Order: sequence, then structure tokens, then C-alpha cells
Amino acid sequence: MRVLIVEDDPLLADGLTRTFNGQGFVADTVASGYSADELLRRDPFDLLVLDVGLPGIDGFEVARRVRRRGDAVPILMLTARDAVQDRVHGLNVGADDYVQKPFDKDELLARAHALVRRSRAAQRDVVSHGRLEMDCAARRCFAGGVPLELPPREWLLLEYLLRNVERVVNKEQIIAAVCRWDDDMSGNAVEVYVSRLRAKLEPHGVRIRTVRGFGYMLQAAADDPR
Ligand code: CA
Repeated sequence: MRVLIVEDDPLLADGLTRTFNGQGFVADTVASGYSADELLRRDPFDLLVLDVGLPGIDGFEVARRVRRRGDAVPILMLTARDAVQDRVHGLNVGADDYVQKPFDKDELLARAHALVRRSRAAQRDVVSHGRLEMDCAARRCFAGGVPLELPPREWLLLEYLLRNVERVVNKEQIIAAVCRWDDDMSGNAVEVYVSRLRAKLEPHGVRIRTVRGFGYMLQAAADDPR
């Protein structure tokens, strides 16, 4: 797995490089947003580890450019401790997860591996979690082995939640995933689709949890014997 590490602090960059190399990753390391942007246009990576404060263009802008190109590389952001705004902003511009500095090596690697796994799952045609299975090529969905009838928007919403399983997604992300660029959809409409999905899924032990103030998360029911 190739990882691109973007960190301008030489000591930290060196530590990160050594942490990733030999843990299933091959690391490239750059110290500026411009170099990162250039390399990302040229080479495919399995993971991007991105510092926020960088010379030239910052980590947010690098992430924004990556997503604007349609590049789905998983992005793990390194944020300053207690910088809640940075974390929220990072997620809004396309980061998938973040680790606070100073970080614990094991936590960093665990999050990195989880992101890569999730991104590989996102490329598969059949996605499943607990009792829920969606065959996106055949457009068939099963909950507890029972086929579900899903209109297009409910399908897209559920597919998005499933591909981001056990991760909180907000309404803006849902709207972006469910609507074409010329469509319009309100936050209230998202709530309507979520409640329709809940009515279909909950009898089969699949739950969509509301995370107050942030969004929704698909999770297996606590009694799910998965
Ligand atoms: Ca920095």
C-alpha cells in the first residue's frame, strides 16, 4: 500500500515515515501542499496522511483539490489538539478521519488501516454489514435475507450509509451523495428518507442512529449475532 505523508515538521515527518514503512505501507513524504498536490495528480496512492498547517497551500486546500478531481483516496488529517474547528472543517472538505497531535503511533496505524479497508470496501459491488446486504451491480438489497424494495433515493442513501458503515455522515454529505448536481434536496427531505429507511430496516435489526448535531450512522443492532 502506498501512503503519501504531507508534513512540514522534519522530525515529525521522519517519525511518520518510519511508522508507516514496514507496517504494510510504502511511504512517500513531502513537506509542502504544492508538492503533495503535484504528486497526487501524478501517482495513485492508497492513503493520504495530511497535516493541516503547511507552507504554500494548507492541508484543507490539498484535500479540497483531491476531492474536486474526483479522487477518492482516503485522507487522514493530522490536527492540533483541541482544534475542534479544524476537525469539522477537515471533514467538510473531504477528509475521512483525523488524528490529533501529539498522536499515538498505534492509534494512527489502526485508523490508517481502517480507512484503507473502508476504501477497498467502497470499490466492491456487494457491500454488507450485519444482516444487511446490497448488491449494487444487480441492484438487489436484503435485510435478514428478506429482499427490500427501495426507490432510487432510498437506495442511494442506504448505499452511502453502508459504504460508510459505523461512521457519522452529515446531511450535506448525504445530499451530495444522493443528488445529481442539478437536483435540489433539503435537510428535511433527508430526515424523511431516513425515517422511511428505518421503517424498512428496523424490523430486521438494522439501525440508523442519529448523532445529534452531526448526522447519521448505520450500525448493527446491539443484539445482532454477527
Ligand atoms: Ca505543520
